Amino acid sequence: MQWSKFKDKDLVLSLAHGIKQKAKKFDRLRIMHVCGTHENAIARYALRDLLPNNIKLLAGPGCPVCVTSSKDIDAIINYGIKNDCTILTFGDMLRVKGSAYSLLSASKLGLYVKMVYGLDEAIYYAKQAKKDAIFFSVGFETTAAPVASIIKSVNLPENLSFFSVHKYTPNGVLELLKAGKLNIDALILPGHASIVSGLAPYEKVASSFNLPCVAAGFEPVDVLGAILMIINQLEDNICKVENEYERLLNYEGNKLAQKALNDIFDITDSIWRGLGIIKNSGFEFKKTYNYLNAKLKFNIPFSDSYTEEQKGCRCAEVILGTIEPPQCPMYAKICNPHNPVGPCMVSDEGTCRNWWEVKGDI
Ligand code: SF4
Ligand code: SF4
Repeated sequence: MQWSKFKDKDLVLSLAHGIKQKAKKFDRLRIMHVCGTHENAIARYALRDLLPNNIKLLAGPGCPVCVTSSKDIDAIINYGIKNDCTILTFGDMLRVKGSAYSLLSASKLGLYVKMVYGLDEAIYYAKQAKKDAIFFSVGFETTAAPVASIIKSVNLPENLSFFSVHKYTPNGVLELLKAGKLNIDALILPGHASIVSGLAPYEKVASSFNLPCVAAGFEPVDVLGAILMIINQLEDNICKVENEYERLLNYEGNKLAQKALNDIFDITDSIWRGLGIIKNSGFEFKKTYNYLNAKLKFNIPFSDSYTEEQKGCRCAEVILGTIEPPQCPMYAKICNPHNPVGPCMVSDEGTCRNWWEVKGDI
């Protein structure tokens, strides 16, 4: 199929019609995706409006900015203010608040912080800088894998180290399901992140929780096609992992990327914003790379106790699909993309931000 076909209006409408017909036999279906790019596509193309009322399309914990704990943000801000170093990170991370400050607002308190588009640029800045530079390394396997590959392949400047808050999607989802925190009937798996991990890690999710799982691309036909594949599975009473994104994604994933990840990182417990510590859900440097691990190199104090979100912010419920953004009393009133109270309003992968961009103050 040509690329433009994935946006084709007639195809989109016929998929929506097929979904409507088949969904009649179900009282209610709650389908969750775990990818900010999916939420972006769903909001931009108003795909929820094409679905019947008995299908709820929920945005799960799929935005790397939203799941970065305020505890981690506090730790790096506190260290950076007291010590002469540069913090390097992606643009979206600059505006997400810790318990009091974001990296950007903490610059008023003396934090030296610089936005970069990727690790390549961070390396460039570290080479220019005379002081220590710490890369606040955020994101799921999509971002963790390139970071690992670059670390393996280039000579890093000695003054550059990393504060890894990388998360591993399959185990994050699995543990949330085990903890009974997700009330869902099926999952749309993240297309890009799965290109790295492959689909095998989701077999356990499908079999242990009887959840149809379909990996999907990011065009309207992809998302609706995945929903139809899910309904077909439910109709036939089967729960398996399927691939709608065959044009780019294969079942095994990217072996080279997986090797780079395994060489550099261990899978460890990790704190997710508003959700607490999730077992085996993060990437942390292997012992052999302790010299790159800023947390150890500089002994950055960190408490692993549960962190509350901004007072009144209901992001945790948004990313568990328990509420929709407008149900948060702050939505569009005091929280908007110009003044984001919680992380879900910051990034264009954030659920509240996507709803606001399309629906405004409703
Ligand atoms: S593709 Fe990966 S990095 Fe991009 S939003 Fe989805 S999960 Fe996040
Ligand atoms: S509207 Fe703002 S405060 Fe409310 S859940 Fe969303 S990001 Fe958090």
